[in-house]
Amino acid sequence: MKVLVINCGSSSLKYQLIDSDSEQVLAKGLCERIGIDGRLTHRPAGKDKVEIEAPMANHTEAVSLVLKHLTDPEVGVIGSLAEIGAVGHRIVHGGEKFAASTVLNDEVIAEIEKVSDLAPLHNPANLIGIRACQELMPGVPMVGVFDTAFHQTMPEKAFLYGLPYEYYEKYGVRRYGFHGTSHSFVSKRVAEILGKDIKDLKTIVCHLGNGASICAVQGGKSVDTSMGFTPLEGLVMGTRSGDLDPAILEYVAGKEHKDLSAMESVLNKKSGVAGVSGVSSDFRDLGKAAEEGNHRAEVALEMFAYRVAKYVGSYAAAMNGVDVIAFTAGIGENDISMRARVLAYLGFLGVTVDPEKNNVRGEERVISTDDSRVLAMVVPTNEELAICRETVALVK
Ligand code: AMP
Repeated sequence: MKVLVINCGSSSLKYQLIDSDSEQVLAKGLCERIGIDGRLTHRPAGKDKVEIEAPMANHTEAVSLVLKHLTDPEVGVIGSLAEIGAVGHRIVHGGEKFAASTVLNDEVIAEIEKVSDLAPLHNPANLIGIRACQELMPGVPMVGVFDTAFHQTMPEKAFLYGLPYEYYEKYGVRRYGFHGTSHSFVSKRVAEILGKDIKDLKTIVCHLGNGASICAVQGGKSVDTSMGFTPLEGLVMGTRSGDLDPAILEYVAGKEHKDLSAMESVLNKKSGVAGVSGVSSDFRDLGKAAEEGNHRAEVALEMFAYRVAKYVGSYAAAMNGVDVIAFTAGIGENDISMRARVLAYLGFLGVTVDPEKNNVRGEERVISTDDSRVLAMVVPTNEELAICRETVALVK
């Protein structure tokens, strides 16, 4: 079956057309600046990529343009839209309602609308993408795959905040966690690579990208994760602060004459390693600056590693042990020196990195020494493939 995977942002739309039998990507691409002017980058497998400026007033026009390119006689990869058997939509927030991927129908869409309050920047964009596909591909089955679903197995002790309980009851204020599709994919892959039953494994997945989170996966289930009510909690990220003393908000807001929403924007967009270093949110830039002697870039990198290591240590405690520490996403897969920095803190757990094996980018590999009690691994994530698999499982 050919599955179209759609990931809609407020002004962007990423897509992949995947053949679910061979799991090959037939085409992928990105629509940007939707509602502003519009730019499409379309990459058909085995053909030259297409980059065009094309007006896209809304997401329906963007989806329409994508479908036109997928079926185009020259740059297309399918003869007609009838070849698309299903559409899988990435949806950021499923609240407590969705603990698994779900076939999208009117009732489910109404439920997603209800939880949009919890992700006001993301869910409305996801819903627009769903409606655009419904309009242009009526009758094609669609599935919603939620970033939060995998973490619905967290116990109360992990998901509740130390706040008045009524905030949870009345407003749903609790930890939800994100990157669930990736944490689930990587933890399953770890078990497959090692030839072990996932039920017997305690794995800590470090999804380290521009947004970063860690997940404790015990017996295939998420038991704790570092992102919380929103993706702002947890690790120091590219531009997000991660954990901090909430009293700082009022203090700095008073000094800088900012309101709460301006402060939240600082925490999301101007903080993290970019805010600390003043250099960049990109770890390649930070590594270069640190090598050239930039102290704040060096501190930002070490802060990042230190926070990751502290979370790994705490999750080893949460699971009363750990078998595998898996690195994934842009930094986890590619930043050799960052992995070494993190693992340098974790000798006490019984993990020893092999510098030669660690010298790898974007490849599945065990990077710890043969006698390391805990395995360290690099396992590239593939959220689109995970969405494709979930979609096929539900529509077949
Ligand atoms: P993601 O959000 O998973 O796409 O990850 C993006 C981040 O990965 C970028 O901001 C970079 O900081 C980081 N990254 C990508 N490639 C490399 C590399 N070769 N070395 C270090 N960091 C990298």
